[in-house]
Amino acid sequence: MSKTKSPRTVSVSQGIAQDTAFGAVTPPVYLSSTYTFEDFGRARQHEYSRTSNPTRDQLAETLASLEGGVLGIVTASGMSALDLALSILQPHDLLLAPHDCYGGSYRLIQGRAERGHFRTLFVDQNNRTALREAFALRPRLVLVETPSNPLMRVVDIAAVASMAKKADAKLAVDNTFLSPALQNPLRLGADFVIHSTTKYLNGHSDVVGGALVTADRADGEELAAWASLTGITGSPFDAYLTLRGLRTLFPRIEAQQRSATAIADLLVAHPAVQKVFYPGLARDPGHAIASSQQKGFGAMLSFEANLGEAGRRTFISSLKLFTLAESLGGVESLIAHPATMTHLGMGPAARATAGISDSLLRLSVGLEETQDLIDDLSEALDAGLAHER
Ligand SMILES: *Cc1c(COP(=O)(O)O)cnc(C)c1O
Repeated sequence: MSKTKSPRTVSVSQGIAQDTAFGAVTPPVYLSSTYTFEDFGRARQHEYSRTSNPTRDQLAETLASLEGGVLGIVTASGMSALDLALSILQPHDLLLAPHDCYGGSYRLIQGRAERGHFRTLFVDQNNRTALREAFALRPRLVLVETPSNPLMRVVDIAAVASMAKKADAKLAVDNTFLSPALQNPLRLGADFVIHSTTKYLNGHSDVVGGALVTADRADGEELAAWASLTGITGSPFDAYLTLRGLRTLFPRIEAQQRSATAIADLLVAHPAVQKVFYPGLARDPGHAIASSQQKGFGAMLSFEANLGEAGRRTFISSLKLFTLAESLGGVESLIAHPATMTHLGMGPAARATAGISDSLLRLSVGLEETQDLIDDLSEALDAGLAHER
């Protein structure tokens, strides 16, 4: 093909019909930890799987292509991909981190800063004054998570990228909530994209994995070498499963997003709901920026229930299709209560600063029939309300 393939085609056709040994249509998985040398002093393309592996490299290349980057590194988890980005920091360096981010990211950053590995400042990245003041402190690395977990706050990637360029800082964007199907931070000026491939990229809740894609080759080679040294690279079998999940990324997230839009409308209208956080809603504060920098609003949303503790319990136990569990981005619908689950370890003070209340609930909308999901939520909300009365 002379023209470059569209991302949708790349996600489906990666590795297909390229096997030279047997003509296998689906690429095989290479589990071997080590590879023969062709001759004394003459290594082949792969020597040892911690450093490089055909299956994992295929996933890395596909993700780099989907994100419009130069080099991809596949890691054992989203956390290790974030930690790899943090490895560029030295003790005197400053990291600008978002004040509301994935709970695990918050704890990792906090823990490393407490051990003196770098300095950190958590800022509300939608507060222009706070952001300007933070950039005046000359950060070395800026981490953006947009839309943020769990409040779906949208950060203007291009605006932060231009501030980062001027300050000579690197910008890393956690793109887990949208996947490359709906947002490409590198095209908006970011230096690194971070993924928990556990979520939409694998999409079937049977792998924990991560990836980091760089815009620059030298950055990528340095980080790839570090990932190999620290041994955080992902397993080939996980890469194989993730490649399989990735083939259906676009149709999955598009269908999930359609249901999420309908669910957001239901929640806005329901008396048991106080507030809905979904950038797809026209009056959501992130709607304008999301419309310009995203290709869709995704399938994650949060809401504050108008229910006390007892009503909330009744609501959650009445749900039949939404399962109470952490994680997101799978084919099945999930519900989480951030204050007692994903964001418990953040502590009450940091949760209050981030605006994560005890009544906040987060939904990951799956691939079930839209009307079934709507019926499930509205019946359970009614049950929750009835309990309050
Ligand atoms: C899940 C998640 C992570 C961590 O990824 P793991 O694969 O669980 O290590 C990081 N960032 C976001 C936004 C996430 O949702």
